[in-house]
Amino acid sequence: MIVMKFGGSSVGDAERIRTVAGIVGAFAEREGIPTVVVSAMQGVTDALIRAAEAASRRDNGTLHRTIAELYSRHEEAAAEVAPPGERDALLAEVHALIREFENLCAAVGVLGELTPRGLDAVASFGERLSARLVAAALRHEGYAARALEASGFIVTDARHGAASPLWEPTRERTREAVLPLLSEGTIPVITGFIGATPEGVVTTLGRGGSDFSASVVAASLDADEIWIWTDVDGVMTADPRIVPEARTLPRLSYAEAAELSYFGARVIHPKTVLPAVERGIPIRIKNTFNPEGPSTLITSSTPEGSSTIKAITAIKGLSLVTVEGRGMIGVPGIAAKVFSAVAQEGISVLMISQSSSEQNICFTIRSAESARAITALKEAFALELAAKNVDRIWAEDGMAIVAAVGQGMRRTPGIAAKLFGALGKAGINVVSIAQGSSEFNISLVVSEAQVEDAVRAIHREFDLGREG
Ligand code: ADP
Ligand code: ASP
Ligand code: MG
Repeated sequence: MIVMKFGGSSVGDAERIRTVAGIVGAFAEREGIPTVVVSAMQGVTDALIRAAEAASRRDNGTLHRTIAELYSRHEEAAAEVAPPGERDALLAEVHALIREFENLCAAVGVLGELTPRGLDAVASFGERLSARLVAAALRHEGYAARALEASGFIVTDARHGAASPLWEPTRERTREAVLPLLSEGTIPVITGFIGATPEGVVTTLGRGGSDFSASVVAASLDADEIWIWTDVDGVMTADPRIVPEARTLPRLSYAEAAELSYFGARVIHPKTVLPAVERGIPIRIKNTFNPEGPSTLITSSTPEGSSTIKAITAIKGLSLVTVEGRGMIGVPGIAAKVFSAVAQEGISVLMISQSSSEQNICFTIRSAESARAITALKEAFALELAAKNVDRIWAEDGMAIVAAVGQGMRRTPGIAAKLFGALGKAGINVVSIAQGSSEFNISLVVSEAQVEDAVRAIHREFDLGREG
């Protein structure tokens, strides 16, 4: 049994939804009924959040414009994909959902604030709408199909915006919801991205989390494979939007895929790999718009001889935080104090570096969290700042991480030298280098303005666009 997930661009309009129905239908004929997981139509999650944020600041112009767009996009798609006898019923369902969303926005407007819990309720509508459209398109093609809301069976903790599944109830309830449909020959079309707490409050698994949903469902069903359908030919040597000559990587290990996604390869959500590793389920990444083209297979092993860089990734929107002071030299526990202050704020650190002089500690976090990090650090080091053991704590915005990923490359001499040589030649200033211990990765901080040039320079230097 296969779990197939289709991303936002794959279900972006009626024509694309019909393409998806064609792919799923052909697979069902050939290999048996797959379980389908879908994202919201491209841009819809952003639009929902934009509308609710507008409501919270009582910006009615933006609110009404955004809601009108939601209606027109979904109405247009529904009218085109519905089987002839179902058109009115599907349109009514779409209307009822968007009305419910409007009511939610009205409540947000009255309260004047959007809580994390409210935001999850808001963001859930995109997948609730798209799953109905995809199921209808399948019925149009003559297949039995039913939309399922994952809030009925993906049971999570209450960490809104980044909820984690509770494995046991999720497994049990997913099997209860999905297996009967499969055995009667109905294609389940499940909302990605969303879940609910044991009390039934809707949660989301994090932006881009539909990939993770697919892997949670696959693990619960003991699926044979997970197929992630997206808008590029699998995982490539770099983001093809930055490096046009990027090439598909036919094979990756779970560890490499995790590392790539963690360091910015949006093509697969970082949490996707975990449930798959645990049950040894292979993941394929395929292109909805080029289904017979190259694809990536992710399993526990990677072909021999992969001792060099496989791919270059980048994450933007970061800040470099520095804690500096001569009085820090030789004082034990400073690093521990820095990182516990940041951790207590729930801020995750992407990369750490400490120069050997011990005069400063630098680390990289998302810019959205930098103000909170600085406040927390200044409080934690109030005494040291007063005593001048710590001189300065500050954040530099506009940073990015570039990471070169590949299993075993750390053991190959000369790779780092070649990498820095390439950046030097391209005139790119390396702000900081990771002290990471992973064998899979060399990562460094550059300014956001230079990050794309840095990715291209490394890609060119290692000739990653070449076949082989
Ligand atoms: P979906 O909507 O299908 O989930 P995403 O937009 O989340 O798709 O992810 C696909 C995008 O990931 C591609 O369009 C591409 O721009 C980007 N991307 C970033 N790094 C890579 C990479 N190494 N290989 C392939 N795609 C990448
Ligand atoms: N629709 C959600 C988002 O835009 C989840 C996803 O697409 O994977 O973040
Ligand atoms: Mg995605």
